[in-house]
Amino acid sequence: MPDRPSNAPPGSAARPEHPRRGARCPICGRPVVPAHRPFCSPRCRQADLGHWLSGSYAIPGEPVAERDPDLED
Ligand SMILES: [Zn+2]
Repeated sequence: MPDRPSNAPPGSAARPEHPRRGARCPICGRPVVPAHRPFCSPRCRQADLGHWLSGSYAIPGEPVAERDPDLED
């Protein structure tokens, strides 16, 4: 095993420090506040979470197929 901590952050996963200029809150459309990005406020952050929990968001992608036990190695 390499002698590095397992929780070392990947070096290439740098994220932009600031939202794009003119970025808008996906909930209410107001300008994004960096402290709350990608939302404009804690309230909108909670609203977004609520959408996820209530299933309002449709996640694009293939449906999860049920695993066929015969295909397991
Ligand atoms: Zn908002």
